[in-house]
Amino acid sequence: MLKLEDTYLHKGKRRALVAELRAKGIKSERVLEAINNLPRHFFFDSALISHAYEDKAFPIGEGQTISQPYTVAFQTELLDIKSGEKVLEIGTGSGYQGTILHLLGAEVFTIEYQKKLFENTQRFLKRLGVELHLFYGDGTGGLPQHAPYDKIIVTAGAPVVPEALIQQLKIGGILVIPVGDRKRQAMVKITKKSAKDIIREEFDGFAFVPLLGKEGWK
Ligand code: SAH
Repeated sequence: MLKLEDTYLHKGKRRALVAELRAKGIKSERVLEAINNLPRHFFFDSALISHAYEDKAFPIGEGQTISQPYTVAFQTELLDIKSGEKVLEIGTGSGYQGTILHLLGAEVFTIEYQKKLFENTQRFLKRLGVELHLFYGDGTGGLPQHAPYDKIIVTAGAPVVPEALIQQLKIGGILVIPVGDRKRQAMVKITKKSAKDIIREEFDGFAFVPLLGKEGWK
């Protein structure tokens, strides 16, 4: 139970992390505030807690990682979340990114491919009192039963942009997805202007664990 204790030391480290993210170019005060408010160490294995406020990715079990804080901030900033928006996340992992979206007022639907991680994170978020809609399965086909979404975020590296995700976006919606090879990806931001018209922007230099499943890596 000790894990869910937020001390002055943790709060201080978190403020320093936020300053570091600001220095690295994150501008959204709402995003920085959410990161400042959410104890990242809660989402860590107890053996790794002392590293929770380093700007690095760390293992969360099942060969997966909690994304680097800069990456979480960058993706969240691109999504431009407004309170009340319906957001789909592919790759629940530790639940950290999903909880940041929730703190920004989104209704979060999130899907995880690894059964064990899905179960652990479901148990953990319940204990934390955070209400996300959690699903187990392959997210490369999206989550059609709750579509359309205002925003969609993919937190694993994809070989291509799955068509289903663009289809499940509302007009005016935004999809943020890392696309590249197994080791390096560019962050792709897709804005759906109309059913046929999309705007694509790219930002280089990211490294995610691979997106698996039907439209992912085999
Ligand atoms: N957003 C997470 C980051 C987790 S890493 C966090 O905040 O901790 C990426 C996650 O994507 C891993 O947990 C991995 O199991 C999951 N994943 C990979 N392929 C997937 C797929 N096809 N559908 C859903 N989740 C997938």
